[in-house]
Amino acid sequence: MKKKRIKKLPIFILLTIIILIAGFLNFNNTDNKNKSGKTKNSYSEKSILKMEELGIKDNVNLKKYSKTLDIAIFDEYFQSSYLKEYEQIEYVETENFIDLVNILLDRKYSAKDIGNIIKEYTKCPNFSKYNFERYLTYKEKNNNLDYQTVVTRVNIKLDKEFYTDTEPVKNPDSLYVVVNKYNYLDSSFVPKNLKPLFNNSNATMVQEAADAYQELVEAAKKDGITLVATTAYRSYSFQSYLYNSYKEKDGQQAADTYSARPGFSEHQTGLAADLNDPNYSARRLSPSDYEWLKNNCDKYGFIIRFPEGTDNITGYQEEDWHIRYLGKEEAKKVKDSGLTLDEYYDLYLKNK
Ligand SMILES: [Zn+2]
Repeated sequence: MKKKRIKKLPIFILLTIIILIAGFLNFNNTDNKNKSGKTKNSYSEKSILKMEELGIKDNVNLKKYSKTLDIAIFDEYFQSSYLKEYEQIEYVETENFIDLVNILLDRKYSAKDIGNIIKEYTKCPNFSKYNFERYLTYKEKNNNLDYQTVVTRVNIKLDKEFYTDTEPVKNPDSLYVVVNKYNYLDSSFVPKNLKPLFNNSNATMVQEAADAYQELVEAAKKDGITLVATTAYRSYSFQSYLYNSYKEKDGQQAADTYSARPGFSEHQTGLAADLNDPNYSARRLSPSDYEWLKNNCDKYGFIIRFPEGTDNITGYQEEDWHIRYLGKEEAKKVKDSGLTLDEYYDLYLKNK
C-alpha cells in the first residue's frame, strides 16, 4: 500500500505540472500572437477576415502593414476607393481619425501630408471636429497662419463676416462673458449690482468692477495720472440711440468700425469703461496715460480690450481708452498671452 501511494503521487504531480506548463505555454502563445500582431506590424486574422468581407483583400499589400488601413476597415466611414491612400497615411491616435482622413482626401490633400495635418490640428486644445472643414478653408486662404491660430480664429467665427451667424451669449452674468460682433446680449439684459463710480456718479459698473476701477484710478493718481470713466455701463436702448446717430452721421460701414450695434456692445455687460484724462484735450488719453494703463491695468483686473493691430479680430479700430474688467488673475493671463479676449476666451475661458 505504501509503495503504491508513493508511485501515484509523483504521477499526479507530474500531470499537474504538465497541465500547468501546457496551459501557460498556450496562454503565452496566444498572448505572443496578439502582441506580435502589433510589434511585427502585420494584420491580424480578424483584419484579414474583414478585408475578405469587404472584398478588398486582394488589393491590400498584406506584407506592408498599415495601421491606418487596419483602423479604416473597421470604421463606419471606410471608403474602399481610398484603399491605396489609407495604406500610405501615417496613423494618428485621435477620435474620428478616418472621418478626418476622408475629408482631407475628398479635398485632394496628398496622402503623405495627411497624418501630419491631422496631428497638427488635433493637438490644439480647442480643436473641434465640427469645424474641421472650416479650418481647412481658412488655412487655404491664410497659409501664413499656424494651425493653432487657424483653429482659434475659426472657432470665434472670423472666417465669417462680422454680424453674421450671431448668437445670444449664454453667460451674460459671468465675469468672463464675451460680447462681440458674433455674440450679443438680449435687449432686456441689465447686469446685477450696478454701482456708481466713485469719481463719476453718472457712470455705473458691476460692483466688483466698480471697486476695481477705484483701485486703478487711485493707483494712477499716485503716479501723477488722472483718469475718469466718461461712460461705463450702457443700456441696450442707449446703445441703440448712439449707434443710430453715428450711422446717420457717418454711414453704417464707418459706424461699425467704432461703435457697436445694440446688443453687441461690451458696455452693456457693466464690465467695461471708457477712460478720459481731463488734463489732456487732444484725445481721451495722452500717450503717457496709455503707457501707464497698458503696463498696469491688469494689476487691478482690467485689460485693454481693443489694442492696436487687432481690428481684424475684434472688428474695432484701436481704442486705447476702453478697458474691460476680468479679475486680476485672468487679466494678467490675457495680457501675457498677447491674445485678444475673444481668442483667449475660446482657448481658456469658455469651459470655466
Ligand atoms: Zn468703450
